[in-house]
Amino acid sequence: MTAGKSADSPFSSPSMIDPFGRAVTYLRVSVTDRCDFRCVYCMAEDMTFLPKREVLSLEELDRLCTAFIEKGVRKLRLTGGEPLVRKNIMSLIRSLGRHIETGALEELTVTTNGSQLAKLAGELYDSGVRRINVSLDTLDEQRFKAITRWGDLGKVLEGMQAAREAGLQLKINMVALKGVNEHEIIPMMEWAHDQGYDLTLIETMPLGEIDGDRTDQYLPLSLVRSRLAERFTLDDIPYKTGGPARYMQVKETGGRMGFITPMTHNFCESCNRVRVTCTGQLYMCLGQDDMADLRAPLRASEGNELLHAAIDEAIGRKPKGHDFVIDRRTKQPAVSRHMSVTGG
Ligand code: SAM
Ligand code: SF4
Repeated sequence: MTAGKSADSPFSSPSMIDPFGRAVTYLRVSVTDRCDFRCVYCMAEDMTFLPKREVLSLEELDRLCTAFIEKGVRKLRLTGGEPLVRKNIMSLIRSLGRHIETGALEELTVTTNGSQLAKLAGELYDSGVRRINVSLDTLDEQRFKAITRWGDLGKVLEGMQAAREAGLQLKINMVALKGVNEHEIIPMMEWAHDQGYDLTLIETMPLGEIDGDRTDQYLPLSLVRSRLAERFTLDDIPYKTGGPARYMQVKETGGRMGFITPMTHNFCESCNRVRVTCTGQLYMCLGQDDMADLRAPLRASEGNELLHAAIDEAIGRKPKGHDFVIDRRTKQPAVSRHMSVTGG
């Protein structure tokens, strides 16, 4: 197998190879910067959102995603902001589902806060979505309110149940926050595994200005892992979902636990991802400011030649990795945009 060819992708051979020989096969698209929650690590309570005219239309997002699929993207994740609060989002998801039907795309997936799932789970399944990530940091109602500011835990749990009943496989993403939910990691893991969900822990990343101090929130997952190992038998497993998580099998629960450790473990060597914002800016790395504007070539003509050329040029500049640091001296975020802009 060459760097550019995936053994199980008979439909297209990846044509996006970066300067370090990594094939770009995974695209994350932020379909909106808006959200119905205001999680403390993600947004300030008083956020200014983009004017609507700057945001790509659903048709433009469809064209953009399709261009990437033509260039070898095999896995597409819609994120945000909260992707499922964008008006008519299901028309985009249904339309993108055609690439699953033809086999051009292996996976179409969504990262969501779960607030709209009770309503949309069935339609997601019918559009070809099979797995979703739901972000859930706590099972305690008051703490949920404190973390998300505007969220309603009951609604999210109801949505997860609806998703399960619709046939979707769920993975829970939990941001590990020092002194906030760290004591809930074990109960959350036991609960998730009991329900048949994988649980992935994420370290807080220094993205965008928020109201608080990030050094207060940062909990290194290396520490969490060694604490877990005191009570559970953890086996590293090669399981992969195409993202940056490393997985362990937990013998006692029979479930899988993932770790996304941008701060304590550099996961850049095997990076196969790029991200597009809802305004059509292509970020080759979550942790760097370099980007390419795809909205201008997209809007400049009806054909995709300019767009393809802009994508090729940008992939040629994909950097080797990020340099996130959180310490008392580096209080500035490593990059100025919020996670809700680039998409998690
Ligand atoms: N609204 C959706 C959600 O919450 O799942 C999708 C977008 S959200 C930006 C994607 C993921 O990024 C969520 O799991 C969230 O917890 C995570 N996230 C947001 N800000 C973060 C930060 N500063 N560090 C680490 N993870 C963050
Ligand atoms: Fe919204 Fe997701 Fe950010 Fe929370 S993490 S504020 S749900 S975009």
